[in-house]
This record gives sequence, structure tokens and C-alpha cells, in this order.
Amino acid sequence: MKFYSIKDKSHKVSFKQAIINGLAPNFGLYFPEEIPQYSKEFFDGIKNMTLPQLAEHVLYPYVSEDINKETLKTICEDVFSFEIPLVEVEKGIYSLELFHGPTLAFKDVGARFLAKSLQYLNKDAKIRVLVATSGDTGSAVANGFLGVEGTDVVVLYPKGKVSELQRKQFTTLGQNIIPIAIDGTFDDCQRLVKQAFADTEMKAAQNLTSANSINIARWIPQSVYYYWAVAQAKKISKTKKIIISVPSGNLGNITSGMLGKATGLPVDRFIAVSNKNDVVPKYIESGEYNPITTIQTIANAMDVGDPNNFPRLLELYNNDHALIKTEVSGAAYSDQQIRDIIRKCKAKTGYILDPHGATGYGSLKDLGETEAIGIFLETAHPGKFVEEVEATLDEKIELPEKLQEFAKRTISTHELSANFDDFMKFLKIN
Ligand SMILES: *Cc1c(COP(=O)(O)O)cnc(C)c1O
Repeated sequence: MKFYSIKDKSHKVSFKQAIINGLAPNFGLYFPEEIPQYSKEFFDGIKNMTLPQLAEHVLYPYVSEDINKETLKTICEDVFSFEIPLVEVEKGIYSLELFHGPTLAFKDVGARFLAKSLQYLNKDAKIRVLVATSGDTGSAVANGFLGVEGTDVVVLYPKGKVSELQRKQFTTLGQNIIPIAIDGTFDDCQRLVKQAFADTEMKAAQNLTSANSINIARWIPQSVYYYWAVAQAKKISKTKKIIISVPSGNLGNITSGMLGKATGLPVDRFIAVSNKNDVVPKYIESGEYNPITTIQTIANAMDVGDPNNFPRLLELYNNDHALIKTEVSGAAYSDQQIRDIIRKCKAKTGYILDPHGATGYGSLKDLGETEAIGIFLETAHPGKFVEEVEATLDEKIELPEKLQEFAKRTISTHELSANFDDFMKFLKIN
């Protein structure tokens, strides 16, 4: 299978080239030339598959030109090596816990898949990964690539806007991980990364690639979550409708689920949930897309005012807004509402939500669809946002062991302005 650029359909490349390029020319996003159609037997049998087996089956058509079955199996066994439980929070509402990986957020899977595929496919040249982060991406990518030979990772994050515990997960690693605190917003970080890619000389000289969710090796493997979710839901009921609510920022996660649906996966409805950065819910409602300057919120991994996977959403639905509206709902929550949701859920069910997952749970409650299986993606462990969650609940929560280990380490980071020339100079000397 080849991947074309949404900006220019005549530009087509292999899986290998697409993951090395990251972005196509003119900021085009890669998209699979054909959407695989899996058999009825596959869908009937998914309940009985293990997570790595499911991943291997789902991902093989996308990578088969460059990665053979045996290698893909090894990669999937490594990448999908942790649990993804579907936990009943209350009647009809389930949490798909995507936070049992090394950095306790859902981005671990995509980051690790990208690292392992690059390691396998790009043995000859040293490759430099650039990544902009508001928290979770940086930690997932840095930990996914830590110690991977032939690579280094430059992580740009907005100074003062990422919690200490989150920073500790990518500024304490050393080795091939180079963190930079940028004096600006997350959008500034994302712009610097995009500009660096647009500088063809620099891109070629340093063999730059992206690890943001635009990279297909991060994007596509996330769709496995949705097959897994449906498989678990089918064990609960064979016939009930399935609604999946996704706390969204750059729309990488939810569009990977929509890609799954396009292959035949039975999901009845998606909910795209935002915080105050509600450009997507507004688009779903009105058909008008008006990007905004990012607003800072307590669900900061969703603080995106111009989601970079938006073109993939349009591509998946053929630019048909009416169709999008019939299959996708939008919802958005303020910080105050998120705190209320966390408190109410804890009081009613005992379940502790993180601020991102809270938007998902809240949207299912508000949809009020009692006959369906409602699944929200719990995208991070509440312990990653310990200050916020403890202040909201007015009680101590227990930190998982993996986080306690990060908390003990010492931060070491570079600092730069949001100026592009400064960033270019930095890349040349580091
Ligand atoms: C990245 C992230 C999101 C948003 O995911 P997108 O793929 O950017 O839409 C939501 N919650 C958490 C915890 C995240 O880390």
C-alpha cells in the first residue's frame, strides 16, 4: 500500500518513506491509498484475539510492503505489551484505560511503534526526530526512542505550561533525548517544528522527521484501540450500539478510530470532545472551521486551537459535513465543568478520572443514550495530573510506581525564544 498527500494526490510514497518524511510537501498529511476491508470472520473472531494478535492483523495491510509478518509480529508484541482494560464505571458507561504503558498515557503505543519501525527500516542514516509537546507527546516519544540507536529526539515544550511531573518524564532522560523549553505557547512549538521541516536544506542535512501525531506510524497504530474496545464490548453485548467518546486535541486519536470504522469496524457514533478549545465541536455543529489561538486549560493535552489532523477528518468523510454530523457528535467543557465532572463521578461511582478522560465521561452522560454501550477513552492516568486532581477532589491520590520513579529525578533542559532563527542555530550546533 502507498500513502498519498492530502494536499497533492499525485504525491505517493511507501510506508517507509512516509514515516521518514513525516509530512508531505507543503504541510500535506499522508493518507492510505486504500482503506483495508477486513473480513466478516475477522470481526466475528476479534473477541478471541490477544491485543498483539489484533494489532498485527489490523496493521499488516498498511505496512506489508516494507515490514514482513514476522517482524511486524515482534514489533506488535513489544509495542502492545501492556493491558488495555475496559472498566465499567457505571451502568452503560465504560472507561477504556489507555494509560498502562510506560508514561501512563495513550501516546505510548504510537510513539513506540514509530521508534521500532524507524529502527527497523532506517538502518543506514542517523535520523533526528523533532517533536512539539504540551506534555504527553514529549514523554511518550522521548521514552519510546530512549536509547534507540541511530536516532535522537529534540523535544520542544512551552516554558512554564507543562506540569513538573510531566516535564520530568522527558527532561530527565539524557542519552539521545534533547529537551528545549520554548518561551511561548504550544502553537509556537508546533510552528517551529513545521518551519524546520519546510527548510528543505536543514531537513535533508539533519535527516529530520516528525513524531507528532501527523506521522502515520504514530497515527495508524492507535486505531488498534478501537478494534480492541469493540472486541471487549462485544463480550458484554452482541447487539447493543457502541458509542465511543474521545478527548481530543490534535484529532490523531479520534481520526484513527474513524479510519477503523472505515474498514468495517462497527462503531455507531463518535463523540469528539474538547475543552475550551472547541473548534471541532463548533465545526461539527455549523460546518465552519475557525481555528483559534490556543487557550490554556486543566486538560492541557487537549489545548490545541488548530488541530493538525483536521484534514484527515475531512478526507475520511470526503469533505461531507452533513455525513460527519450524522456520525460524529461534538461536546466541549470548561475547566469548571471538568472539575465538577471529576467530583460527581468520584462521588457516584468511586472512579477517579483525569481531566481529559473527564470530558469523555461527561459527554457520554450528557448524550444520555441509555441503551448503548458508551465507551470513553481514558487517555491518561489521573496521577499524571496529580495537583489538579487532588485539589479538585480535596484528597490525596496514589501515584503509580512508574510516576514515583520519574518524580525522584532531576530536570535538565535547554531554553530558547520562540524565534525560528534561534531554533535553527540550536539545531546546527547540537
Ligand atoms: C494527546 C492527548 C489527548 C489528545 O489526543 P489527540 O490525538 O491529540 O486528539 C487527549 N488526552 C491526553 C491525555 C493526551 O495526552
